[in-house]
Amino acid sequence: MRAIHWFRRDLRLSDNLALDAALGDADEVIGLFVLDPRLTTGEKVSAPRLAFMFSCLEKLAANLEKNGGRLIIRQGDPLQEVEKVLRESEANALYFNRDYSPFARQRDEKLEQELTARGFTVKTFKDLVLFEKDELLTGTGGIYTVFTPYKKRWLEKVAQQPPIRFETDYSKLRLQSEIVSNLSSLPLTHYNIEGDPWYLPAGEEEAHRRLKLWAGAKVTQLISRIEGYREKRDFPAIEGTSRLSPFLRFGAVSVRQCYRAAINARERAGKVAEKDGIDTWVSELIWRDFYYQIMWNFPYVVKGAYQKKYDALEWDNNQSGLVAWKEGRTGYPIVDAGMRQLNQENWMHNRLRMITASFLVKDLLINWQEGEKYFWEKLVDGDIAANNGGWQWSASTGTDAQPYFRIFSPVSQSQRFDSDGEFIKKYLPELAKVPPKYIHEPWTMPLALQEHLGCVIGKDYPAPIIDHKIARERTLTAFKAIKA
Ligand code: FAD
Repeated sequence: MRAIHWFRRDLRLSDNLALDAALGDADEVIGLFVLDPRLTTGEKVSAPRLAFMFSCLEKLAANLEKNGGRLIIRQGDPLQEVEKVLRESEANALYFNRDYSPFARQRDEKLEQELTARGFTVKTFKDLVLFEKDELLTGTGGIYTVFTPYKKRWLEKVAQQPPIRFETDYSKLRLQSEIVSNLSSLPLTHYNIEGDPWYLPAGEEEAHRRLKLWAGAKVTQLISRIEGYREKRDFPAIEGTSRLSPFLRFGAVSVRQCYRAAINARERAGKVAEKDGIDTWVSELIWRDFYYQIMWNFPYVVKGAYQKKYDALEWDNNQSGLVAWKEGRTGYPIVDAGMRQLNQENWMHNRLRMITASFLVKDLLINWQEGEKYFWEKLVDGDIAANNGGWQWSASTGTDAQPYFRIFSPVSQSQRFDSDGEFIKKYLPELAKVPPKYIHEPWTMPLALQEHLGCVIGKDYPAPIIDHKIARERTLTAFKAIKA
């Protein structure tokens, strides 16, 4: 039998469940990737994500060649292209790992139905998450919508069913094909992927290098590692998180590999604090699963509030406020530094994602979906489930969300998580000379000092676009109106 493994969000060879099954079942396996034009054109395009994905694809193609195979890359409608390649290569079976967004579900269900009706075998696998769909249910058979009991169940289940380990035999990746195309032949000239900084550090080997530094055996105390995660993860000036998100997004590393690395690190860890750091990191992997299962069971969340009543909230939707937020010119240094990190690096620290999201929704009273859209456009790790979950958490419209009356003060958050302004100064050079005393509220600096430092508020750096106290009251009123 000849099979096709359709690569999608699993751009790696190792620990790839569908690929491993195809290699086990078939005599020959062909690797295929289909570039859907909806990914490269239109309003959902994200240049950094594309660059990262192309680089992952190039590395995957090279790895396949090293193992005697080839990656076929086609461009067009996935259903048509998959069927064409099945017919051209005289393959009888299609293998792929499941995806959970409403769009992917619809596409895959249709494809599976049509190909099965035409006599092909289609096999799909759970690979993107550790637990999917409705695998974890409450005692009464319901879907978990609160994180803590979900996590408890997740940990019980993973202890009963640890993720399988397997040694993949790649010897069947051997098809010599006439229909190979490569990336340079794709019509992408409008976008210089090779000039994008995210183009470089991609692929499976790089993911493993990073995972090893993060959670492998300790080699040096100088780098941030998983054991220190709990203490360091909230401080954006420190490299205290794994930065694996883009690799997980495109499956250059599997979530099982991450989980296993954490468990191995836990076995080696000596101190309780180190174990706590590792457990906290595993919790983040569980949040990732949690948001996928929310999206699967409540697919309407990608279009509106999980708590539907909040779709009726009266937003302000002030355009100049939205533009100032996007550009990092709100006059609140911690918010602006976060947004400039996003604009410059296409990645943002989690604490800042929470602070900037809260500012957009709870200070500016702008619909969270505007923020979700902007993050989606910019983030190299943009993931529909995590982005939606993060936004709905921040906006208090989600499942297990921040209560609506808990409103982050951008000044206190800044004092707490960037106390000496190190992160702020990195991204806001105009504030470089501002003393720590004023860095969180530069508008309180005496005018003479502003002039002396060459940082006049309203001229060299914006005055706050909104008064936090007034904004807070306005938001509470808007949310209370819905509750009533
Ligand atoms: P680490 O702290 O090292 O965590 C390890 C991995 O766990 C991450 O790579 C990620 O895959 C997962 N993870 C961590 N936190 C979360 C979380 N809260 N929810 C779901 N998964 C998590 N994460 C994305 O991957 N894509 C997004 O589009 C995204 N959008 C977000 C939007 C908002 C408003 C908020 C508040 C959070 C968002 N997150 C998103 C979650 C989180 O900010 C990032 O996963 C994290 O900052 C990535 O950095 P890291 O790899 O160093 O994470």
